[in-house]
Formats: sequence, C-alpha cells, structure tokens
Amino acid sequence: MGKKYIRYPAVFLDRDGTLIYNKNYLSSPDQVKLYSYAAESLNKLKNAGFKVIVVTNQSGVARGMFTLEDLNKVHEKFLSLLKKAGTTVEGIYFCPHLDEDKCECRKPKTGMAVQGAKDFNINLKKSYVVGDSIRDYLLGYNIGGKGILVLTGHGKKQQKEISHEMVQPFAICKDLKQAVNLIIKDAKKC
Ligand SMILES: [Zn+2]
Repeated sequence: MGKKYIRYPAVFLDRDGTLIYNKNYLSSPDQVKLYSYAAESLNKLKNAGFKVIVVTNQSGVARGMFTLEDLNKVHEKFLSLLKKAGTTVEGIYFCPHLDEDKCECRKPKTGMAVQGAKDFNINLKKSYVVGDSIRDYLLGYNIGGKGILVLTGHGKKQQKEISHEMVQPFAICKDLKQAVNLIIKDAKKC
C-alpha cells in the first residue's frame, strides 16, 4: 500500500486589481494598498481548506520599469500588510517576462500554477483562479480548473473584450469578496 497522499484545492489569485488597488507598473512599496475585503476573503478561503497562492505577471521587470529588488520590496510590503490584517498567503509567484520571451510562466500559461502545485501538493483540477484580466480566467481554464473574472481593477474593460469565440469565464464577479463566496459554494457541490 502506498502512503496516503492528500492533494489540496487551491485558489490562485492575481495581485494588482484583485487583492490590491491597481497602479500601472506598480514599483514602490508605498503604492501598495489592499482592498478592504482582501484579508477577510483570504481567511475565508483558508478556513474552507484552500491553499491560497498569488500569481502575478510583472512584465515591468522585462520592460525595465522596475528591478527584481523593487518587486521584492513591494512583496515584502504586501505581505506585511496582510500580516497586519491577520492573514497570509502560501506563496507569491511572479513572471518577469514579456509575451515575446515565450516563457512558460506568463499568464495564461500555466508555469506558476504548476510550480505552486508541486510546492504545495495541489490538485489543479479542483482549483480556481481569480483575477481582473482575461489572462487570469484563461489560466483557470488552462490548468483544468475554473477561472473567475472580477470587475475591479481592469475587470470591466476586460469583460468588454471577451468575444463569443473565446473561452468564457466560469463566472464574473463584482469583486474578490463575491468570488470567494461563489467558490466556497461551488466547491461544496463537487
Ligand atoms: Zn514568464
């Protein structure tokens, strides 16, 4: 008999426009501001048994708008704000590339989620991706899970760009708070 091996469901969350207010090419720690419902939403997911992981495209690095060091400082601030608000995340994965770099990590490519799945024993098919970009919900689809578009950040603009020929989101939610309630309900059905 093999060892019993548990794989967890996860919610992969976008950073900008989903957990924190959107700023184009956010590069400095003092620009980091959590949405009021961010911490509470993360705790709800964790209490429901989800691993919570941030996956963020940061092409500003490849574009030379900020350095990896700047990005680290932003993430330190982000984590300290979460801690102050009484929560945390399992990890933050970022892609510093451009589309033309043809990396495996830039959303909607699955590299970051696949790495997260290895690091935290995650069942991707039982997982969700939430974000304010088409790339986010497509990532949910690409990992065999479910993708939710939120209408904060760039969400409303992105929603208008979804055409009939495209893969559709599993759901469209006003914000992360609403998305979390939907995920918890949906996961109970499965
Ligand atoms: Zn990449």
